[in-house]
Amino acid sequence: MGRLTGKVAIVTGAASGMGLAQAKLFIGEGAKVALTDLSSTGQSIAESLGDAAIFIRHDVSSEDQWAAVVKQTEERFGHVDVLVNNAGVFRAATLEDTTRENFDLHIAVNQTGIYLGMRAAAAAMKRAGKGSIVNLSSAAGMRGTPGCFAYVASKWAVRGMTKAAAVELAPYGIRVNSVHPGVIETAMVKDQPPGWFSAVCSMTPLGRLGQAEEVAQLALYLSSDESSYTSGAEIAIDGAATA
Ligand code: NAD
Repeated sequence: MGRLTGKVAIVTGAASGMGLAQAKLFIGEGAKVALTDLSSTGQSIAESLGDAAIFIRHDVSSEDQWAAVVKQTEERFGHVDVLVNNAGVFRAATLEDTTRENFDLHIAVNQTGIYLGMRAAAAAMKRAGKGSIVNLSSAAGMRGTPGCFAYVASKWAVRGMTKAAAVELAPYGIRVNSVHPGVIETAMVKDQPPGWFSAVCSMTPLGRLGQAEEVAQLALYLSSDESSYTSGAEIAIDGAATA
């Protein structure tokens, strides 16, 4: 038996990086997965994953599209047990260089997207009788990481919304946790100045960057019944960088 046998998951931002790793791992563990992403490259990815996968093109900041994602997932797979709010954007800028446009983009995708996702999923999970929501925050949601002001603001908000939702949804058997990765080798961080990666490694006690598959393993644990008493937690996965 797989660790997610019988479960239906929605994974946002699943066309790339950690979301893609989560979708593949979850299907390997027996789940049915709705992969959603702004990028339509998710369509061919879902097709390559077989009958256990569907792709839904989705902007997480759109309230109407969230309703459609939950409806299509329930129509195809019957219910929704797991939501991984993984989609996110990162556009580095200091406080003084942060334009209003940069700030609003981070809040719309990284914060409002998760609020809308949790709200839409909570209704579906109440219908299913239980559920697990995993919200991707960041190590930047645990400290004042310099040079990415709006990103930090949005990721701290994820941490707070996770705790509020965990308390409110507990009576319905719905668990909510946040995951806080350090620097993970994905497309999000590929354009960095020379020396940046070695500087990150030197500030990380485990001495290396993380991999998308390692974060997917944590998301798997939180999505499965193995974590049945874990809710409202913030879990760092950062090589001890924030320890
Ligand atoms: P990634 O860029 O590889 O993937 C992000 C995905 O989100 C992309 O497929 C993109 O198309 C999608 N996306 C962007 N805006 C969207 C929107 N409005 N609606 C729907 N989809 C949208 O990045 P990743 O590194 O895999 O990041 C996954 C999550 O982990 C993000 O929330 C990110 O902030 C967080 N995170 C990343 C790192 C890192 O070092 N890579 C560290 C900490 C936290």
